[in-house]
Amino acid sequence: MNESFTDPVCGMTIDKSQVAATLEYGGKTYYFCSPGCKVAFEREPERYAESESKPESSEGSAPGSSSP
Ligand SMILES: [Zn+2]
Repeated sequence: MNESFTDPVCGMTIDKSQVAATLEYGGKTYYFCSPGCKVAFEREPERYAESESKPESSEGSAPGSSSP
């Protein structure tokens, strides 16, 4: 069975045997086609990491008065 991953930086689909670098971020493991893509991810992980669809409900900040 072939496992394949999507490089979050360049969007390339890479086969398990083609994975050049991996990185764990936010509890997820990301796979990269080249060390360069990993470096790019490390620079801006928030930009490339899969943004889980967060519910609209306010989780951290309460609406209204919360500023010092
Ligand atoms: Zn890549």
